[in-house]
Amino acid sequence: MPVQPAIAARHEELTAWRRDFHAHPETAFEETRTSDLVAERLESWGLEVHRGLGGTGVVGVLRAGNGTGSLGLRADMDALPMQEEADTPHRSTIPGKMHACGHDGHTTMLLGAARYLAETRNFNGAVHFIFQPAEEAGGGAKRMIEDGLFEKFPCDEVFAIHNTPKLPVGVASVHAGPMLAAVDAMIVTITGKGAHGARPHEGNDPISVGVQLHTALQHVATKSISPLEPAVINVTQFHAGTAINVAPQRARIAATIRSLDPGVRDRIEARVREICDGLAKAYGVEIDLEYRRSVSPTINTPAEAEMAAEAAADVLGVENVRRNEKPVTGGEDFSEMLAVKPGAFLYIGGGKSDDDFGLHHPRYDFNDDILPIGASYFANLVERRLSREQGESAS
Ligand SMILES: [Zn+2]
Ligand SMILES: [Zn+2]
Repeated sequence: MPVQPAIAARHEELTAWRRDFHAHPETAFEETRTSDLVAERLESWGLEVHRGLGGTGVVGVLRAGNGTGSLGLRADMDALPMQEEADTPHRSTIPGKMHACGHDGHTTMLLGAARYLAETRNFNGAVHFIFQPAEEAGGGAKRMIEDGLFEKFPCDEVFAIHNTPKLPVGVASVHAGPMLAAVDAMIVTITGKGAHGARPHEGNDPISVGVQLHTALQHVATKSISPLEPAVINVTQFHAGTAINVAPQRARIAATIRSLDPGVRDRIEARVREICDGLAKAYGVEIDLEYRRSVSPTINTPAEAEMAAEAAADVLGVENVRRNEKPVTGGEDFSEMLAVKPGAFLYIGGGKSDDDFGLHHPRYDFNDDILPIGASYFANLVERRLSREQGESAS
């Protein structure tokens, strides 16, 4: 079955919803207008609606038959704190805020699926439509989980999609294992003794300690981690000093750290801590390390990746579902849901040409052509995974 005809028939309406979200972007944990609209629509189609999880999160519950199976389908609602530069009629009306990652489209696709499934109810079990806040700030998924998401709305499995202009329209990508990386950060403050620039021996030069720290960090990825395991430790900030003739007291270094494997993630953190401790002792400086774990790696479980691929193949054709794309070193906080539930994250192509603006670009705009594809994918997933036949034969 390609795109569901009942969903395709509403393409214009889906486009209007998406553009309305686009014109009214809201950033992390402030998605009040968006969540009001989501909740109103879900309620109007007869779903049971729960609000307040993770602040502005919304969960819509739809049941059919007497099956005990349950699925969670997740969309993110937040925009980015950046100025839009496109001049489309639906461009952002809020200065400094913009839907530059297509979460306006993700929210619309999940709404499209909810409406279709509420009308057809051709499944057996429970579907939880999870609209989460604050994906970009990394924290919305975690907050919803901490607020009892999976206790209140038990899900056997969870699924989400992200659009990408890097794949053409009509193509999707999903595989078992890591899809995206863990995103961590380190912020190091080296405090030593300042001195006159002409008398370095009277201080202990945090700049040279910082340079050694930079070198030692390169060692972690190449000597402490297997060459077969991806690891990025990239120093992105180094601040020190104010005058040419003054050796400063303090240097500050920050790095972004990416990994695909939870064991590698732990190993990197342990090595960074050892290196900081060792350098502090060796050079008689204080090293304060703030190590921040942001999002976990996005790891698809094999059976659910297969299920996602099959549901996407229903819509796009099996030849258009790529199963062997490489993981990316960006991050995604749906990973927090995948850390506690089996499930799969799938990329859906939205590219029109090779020079499309990428995600997070000030001229990026979600491609409305793919709204029915994403909505049909979610709908197929439910009809496959919670199929009536399976439910009836099991009961
Ligand atoms: Zn983004
Ligand atoms: Zn995104």
